[in-house]
Parts: sequence; structure tokens; C-alpha cells
Amino acid sequence: MTTEIYLDGNATSPVLPAAIAAATCAMGQRYGNPSSSHAAGLSAKALLDQARQCARRLLGVGDGRLMFNSGATEGIQTAVLSALVALRERREQGEAIGSLLVYGATEHKAVPESLAHWNRLLGLNLTLHKLPVNAQGMHDLAALRACAAEAALVCTMAANNETGVISDIAGIQAVLEQTGCKAYWMVDCVQALGKLALNLAATRIDYAPFSGHKLYAPKGIGMLYVRAGAPFTPLIVGGGQESAQRSGTENMAGIAALGTVLAALERGDTFRSHDELEGYRARLADALREALPGIVFNNPFENSLPTTLNFSVPGLSSRELMDVFDAAQVRVSSGSACSAAKAAPSYVLDAMQVPLWRSAGAIRMSFGPLIDAAMIDDACRRIARCGAALRSGCLIPSERHSTVHDGLLQMGVEGVCSWLVLDAASRSCVLIDPLPEHTGRIEAFVRCQNYRVQAILNTSAGQENGALLEALGRHAASRVAADAYGWPALPERVTLADGQSVAALQLGARTLACVSDGACRHYLLGAAVQGRLDAAAVRFAFSTASCAPALQGLTGAATLLCPSRDEHNQFCSGAAAADAVCCDSLQLDHAGLNALLGSHPAVELIDVREDFEYAASANLLAVAGKVQSVPLSRLTEHASSWLAAPDSTLVFICRSGNRSLKAAQCLRRLGHQHSYSLSGGLALAALAQAA
Ligand code: PLP
Repeated sequence: MTTEIYLDGNATSPVLPAAIAAATCAMGQRYGNPSSSHAAGLSAKALLDQARQCARRLLGVGDGRLMFNSGATEGIQTAVLSALVALRERREQGEAIGSLLVYGATEHKAVPESLAHWNRLLGLNLTLHKLPVNAQGMHDLAALRACAAEAALVCTMAANNETGVISDIAGIQAVLEQTGCKAYWMVDCVQALGKLALNLAATRIDYAPFSGHKLYAPKGIGMLYVRAGAPFTPLIVGGGQESAQRSGTENMAGIAALGTVLAALERGDTFRSHDELEGYRARLADALREALPGIVFNNPFENSLPTTLNFSVPGLSSRELMDVFDAAQVRVSSGSACSAAKAAPSYVLDAMQVPLWRSAGAIRMSFGPLIDAAMIDDACRRIARCGAALRSGCLIPSERHSTVHDGLLQMGVEGVCSWLVLDAASRSCVLIDPLPEHTGRIEAFVRCQNYRVQAILNTSAGQENGALLEALGRHAASRVAADAYGWPALPERVTLADGQSVAALQLGARTLACVSDGACRHYLLGAAVQGRLDAAAVRFAFSTASCAPALQGLTGAATLLCPSRDEHNQFCSGAAAADAVCCDSLQLDHAGLNALLGSHPAVELIDVREDFEYAASANLLAVAGKVQSVPLSRLTEHASSWLAAPDSTLVFICRSGNRSLKAAQCLRRLGHQHSYSLSGGLALAALAQAA
């Protein structure tokens, strides 16, 4: 089994083996409560003191406080609470404290959320003020200078989690000093730990939160530095632990593990040097450039952590990139939060005024300083495989003609869709309701498959397809006059079930009939016999949903209706289709699948991942039985044959169980009662197999 390559270090990290050993020891042998005065307690206390002393030296905290807590989100809360309580007291004493809570536009969400929360709870009513960043992601120092006089608290980060951009801490400090700004200053140091040298007491920084799990310690352990003399209010009170700065019995396993990581950092014998890490990043960047033509890096390498790459690829969504990397077992993260319908742009890249396609399609590749050359070699090989898979799937421009697709292809199945009707034998195709956002994708597909586009059709009038026509160039049939829906003026005709004779277009053995109905336009695809397209012979009908009822009489019970929009991810519908189906009855876990396979040997397993994911896959599928591949984009094409065998049992599978659920729901809605989805997808199936 190929192991995964974890390139998502800015999200979290595995735990250093020595840190696991230290945590195990803290739980198994040195399990005492550090507040107890007996030997077991003293032993735990020694562990605690040792970890703290190491942290104090490493971070240069001088006379300042350094407390352990649960992580950076807690550290941020404590810092914000401390500053705001002090501001409120100062204001109550008649002091002018300023009116602004200033925070960098690219801060982790924990910062503005905490500011808003405590500002409201404490009734301060200060104004949250977003400090812009420039195109390189650096804080706009002129904007800071302009608001410094009114700033009550300033929150900036040492390095950004999405881009790795390193802030100009000295520059910010200079502005605060030059303007005589009295604001408190918090610097989120989460991503800096282990990657940038820190000497906190030598700066004006008042608060600096840290998180263990970003640097090989477990989740749930962190630290907060508070400058000597800076105001402090505990967030949690109780037993007085951590010198009454953070009550609650200490997380000794976490502290022991973090202490071990910090000791390794201090010794300098465990982690790679800055130069080595830069060399590794350069190699990854070269591999990415080679594999993904047109790639744009969104972070300036010369001023970002040597462990972070953030990039976008023209024509590829972050979802597709995530899918292909995941198939190759390379774990990266999408720079943007993906909603069900569309990838939302990254607010960090938006703040850098990066174009929308890059901000919405961004991928972050990040690694920890424990990485080695062998892992980088392996990552580069897998990146090359991802590039080849995307080329063979025609998702990025390719000179090579891959396997030729035939039949119906639904592009962009996440909420929006364009339809391609393909005839491999004649290498001609028709596009129906192509969406402008698919122009690049359609062009790449048509070019790499060497198709000729006979017509670009719309189900409503007045759609503009000029840009697509231009992009297709010689792959579009030479222009003949077309009507407002794109239907070409051709002489062929076909007779429909109701006896009307309508214009038709021949696509190999299939006939596409054009039905006008007031402002609506329908296209019927099927096998005409002797100039007649009977209702039962219509396999697919393309129509806007509101116009579909007019098709009665022209289509059969088995005709699948292909919508021009697919907001609800239904793919297609049919005359007998139900509105919705219940999720629970069609979810199978791994044990359920095995039981089903035992009782129904003829179960059909269908992998709905796209071809490029298959091509990039490093492993055989982690499910028993023979699996056929039917990508979601070709579900509609295959649905009719499954519906024709209603007693068959279908189990859909995919990476995470999300797409397979949609496929199973679609088939159930269309009337196939024995369709299921493997919940948790292949990711969980692999775990179940390994267990
Ligand atoms: N700040 C930054 C820059 C981060 O990257 C993160 C984690 O993603 C946090 C704060 C929150 O850290 P924690 O998970 O320890 O609460």
C-alpha cells in the first residue's frame, strides 16, 4: 500500500515520535498532578518546569509570562480579553484609549471573531478596523500609520497560514513607535514557531499566542506569551494552576510532548535548516510548473515561510486539484472554503487583490521542517503523475489524444452544468447550454479529444456563445446561419410522436430533434427509424425545467430529462422521478457493504470518481469486488441502462462518500430501488481494511 505524503503542515502536523514517547511517559509513569506535593506530583512538576524553561529560552520571553493553554484560539481569546478589560478600565478612568480594534486583513478568523465577541460582551463598542495588505500580502504600513493614533489594540500575525507570507514585524513596531501609538499589540505567532527566530522580549509585542499541533506536538496544547507589564486577565479561573493565569489541571501529556519538540528545536539537531527547506520548496515548485502548465504561485517565495506554496492553475478548480492530489495520496488543502455548490474565494488572497479565479481555485501545499529529501522526491513523482492524469483526462491542455469519450457528458456537476453530446465514431459533437465558466474546460476537452463541434445550442434564446466559438477555433464547424438558439439552418427533418415534422441534426447513429414551443426550445436525442423519432426512442430531452411539461407525448417513460441548470445536484430527472429521497436508507458502511456483497454476489460496484482521479490513483481500491468506473459527469448516460434492470443492486463509491451519495440519490429518485452509497467513501474503506 502506498503511503500518503502529507503536505498540509500549516493545518496540523503528525506528532514527533519522541514527543509521543514523552506524552506516553507523562501518562503512564509520570502521571502525577503537578500541584501535588508528593513524589509523583513533584515528578510531573519537574516535567512542567523543564518544558516551560525551554520555551522561555527559545522564545526569548525575558521577564514576561509564558503559560501553557489549549492552543492558539484560547491564547488569542486570553490576549484580546486582557487588552479589552484594561482598555475598559482606562476609559472608565477618563483616559482616551482610541476607538479602533485594528487587525490585519489576512489574520486567522479567530482574531476578528474574538475581537467582535469580547468587544460586544464587555460593552466597549469600539470599531473593528481591517488593516489592508498589499499585493504581496504584507500589512500596509501607511494605512497603519494613518490609523495608529486611534488604535486601541493592534493584531497582526508573524506569518500567514494560507500563504506563509512573513510580516514585517520590525516595520510595524517602527510605525507604532514613531506615531507614539499607545495601543496594545498582539502578534499571532502560530505559523512562525520553528520556522522563524523569535526574541519576544526584545520587541514591543504585548501578546503572542502559539499552538503545539502546527509543529509536531499534539492538538490541544499551546502557549501564550505576555510581555512583562502588559495587562493580563485570566480567561479561566479555578484551582490557580499556571500561577493562577490559566486554571485547570495541566494537560501534562501535551506539555511533555510540546516540551520535547521545543527541546529538539533548541538543540537544532532534528529539523531541517531554512536553506534546506527553501531548496525543497524550489523542487516542489519546479515539479508543479512541469506538471501543471500555466500555474501561478500566489505567495512571493522571497518573503514567505520556506515551507509554504500557494498556487492556482488556469481552468482547474480547487476541488479538482484537491481530488487529483488526494487520489495520488498527496494531502494538500484548498486555500478557499468549499461550499456545496461552488468554491468560495479565499479571503486571504482576496485581501491581496488576487484575481477571482486564482482566489477561488487556490491550493496550499505546506510541509513541516521534519521533511526529508526522499519525501520530496516521492512528492515530485506524484505531482508528475497528477499532471499526466489531468492531461489524459483533458482537464489541462494536452497534445496527446486520450481515450475518446462517447455519449453524454455533463460538465461541472456541482450546481451548474453544460451538456456535451458526443459521437466518437464521427468525432462530432453538439454543446447544449454551455456555461461561460466552462469555456476553457470545453475548449481543452474538444481540442484534446479532437472533436468537431457541429452546433452550440441553447434552450433559451439570446445566450451569447461568441467567446466559446472563438476559443474553439477550427474545432467549431464552419459557421452556417443559426437562429437565436444556435440551431443551424440545415435541411434535415424528422417526424416526432405527435406527427409534427421538426428540424433535426444527425450525430452518428443518433438524431437530435429541435422542438420549438413559444419561447422554449427543447432538444430530443434518440435513435430515429426511417425518419421517425418515436417517444419511446427518445433517450434524453434537454429543456429548461419550466418548459419540460410541454414535452409530454413527445417523450417516453424512460426518457431522461437533462436540465440546463442543476442547482440541486440531481443530474437528470424522468417522468416517474420522485422529488426527493431519504438519505439514511441508502447509506452503507463498510460492514454493510461486505454483508451485501455476501448476500448479493451480483452487486455492481460503481466508482463515480472522475477518470483523472483514477489515473492518478496510487492504490487499488480498498473495497472487495469488481469495480466499474462511471464518473459522475457520465452518470446520466449510464442511468438509463441501470434503470432498465430495476432488480440489480448498485453500490456507488467515491473518495469521501459525498458524490456517491448524490449518485445513489439520483438513481433512487429515478425509481431504482436498490442503489446505495458507501458512506465515508474510499478514505474510510481503506481504514477499515487496514484495521
Ligand atoms: N492562528 C493561525 C495563524 C493558525 O494557523 C491557527 C490554526 O489554524 C490558529 C491561529 C488557531 O490555532 P489552534 O488550532 O491552536 O486553536
